[in-house]
This record gives sequence, structure tokens and C-alpha cells, in this order.
Amino acid sequence: MSCLFCKIVEGSIPSAPVYQDDQAYAFADINPKAPVHVLIIPREHISSVAAASEDHRALMGHLLWVAADIARQKGLANGYRIVVNTGEDGGQTVDHLHLHLMGGRGMTWPPG
Ligand code: AMP
Ligand code: ZN
Repeated sequence: MSCLFCKIVEGSIPSAPVYQDDQAYAFADINPKAPVHVLIIPREHISSVAAASEDHRALMGHLLWVAADIARQKGLANGYRIVVNTGEDGGQTVDHLHLHLMGGRGMTWPPG
């Protein structure tokens, strides 16, 4: 399996874990764009939300719930941003579905 995030899930590439359960894994982004920048991924390889199937509906909801739970644990009571870059135009660089949870500073809109 050549997928970077699959290797992170299985532990062959190290990461700084933030949360884990039987479906999801969350870890610190290696190149943080905010004081809190966590990536939330499914353990199962799904290349993007565009590639998710009907079978993944509950899993995708679970990932969003995990992001909100981590935000609570990190004390992001003033707000935060959850981003899911998808495909080339979306700026996705790692083809394993992931949510970015970013917080700890004010965000601007629109993103670039
Ligand atoms: P995206 O551009 O939405 O596909 O996001 C990919 C993210 O993965 C970027 O924010 C990278 O900084 C992050 N990233 C790449 N390699 C690693 C790694 N080994 N550990 C943690 N985060 C990584
Ligand atoms: Zn993968």
C-alpha cells in the first residue's frame, strides 16, 4: 500500500496521535497552518469524499463528529474551521480522505 495516510494509520510512518477509535484516526498536521491543526482520517482507505460510496455515509458523519469532539477537547470555544480539500481544484495533495481541523486564530474568508 503506497498511500501515505494508510502508512500513518498502520504506524509504519510516525505521527503525533490526537484521537483514535475503530473507524477514525486523528493526528497533528506536519506543516500546521494554525495553532491547532489536526487531520482526521478514516482507517479505511477512501481516496476522497468524491470517491465515497453510500456505504460510507455514516463513517463520514462520524469523522465530522470526531472533529467537533477534538475541537471541544482542544478548547476551541471561540470557533474553528473544518476543511475537506477534494480533488485537484480543491487543492487535495494526499489522496486519502481527510478533514483539516484548524483553530486557535481567526480565519479569513474566502480561502484562496
Ligand atoms: P491536503 O492538501 O488537503 O491533501 O492536505 C494534506 C495535508 O497533509 C497537508 O496539510 C500536509 O501538511 C499534511 N501532511 C503531509 N504529510 C504528513 C505527515 N507525514 N504527517 C502529518 N501531516 C502530513
Ligand atoms: Zn490510504
